[in-house]
Amino acid sequence: MTTATLPATAPSNTDVNDRTTHVVCCNADLALCGLDVSDEPVVPDGVGHDCIVCLDLEDQPCPRCGYTPEGDA
Ligand SMILES: [Zn+2]
Ligand SMILES: [Zn+2]
Repeated sequence: MTTATLPATAPSNTDVNDRTTHVVCCNADLALCGLDVSDEPVVPDGVGHDCIVCLDLEDQPCPRCGYTPEGDA
């Protein structure tokens, strides 16, 4: 499963609002959804479109480091 479905857009400061933003945990180069984000620019919160896979996984324990989001009883 290495097929990328995201468009390979060149990073720029003008299309930041059209970007998909991913969530990372212990590995800053690997998003929770499994996407390699080592080449993705860091964008502020609220910019771009949230990756729905990352959003879903954000509420679950990290499979790599075991980090558990707060509020989970
Ligand atoms: Zn993602
Ligand atoms: Zn982690």
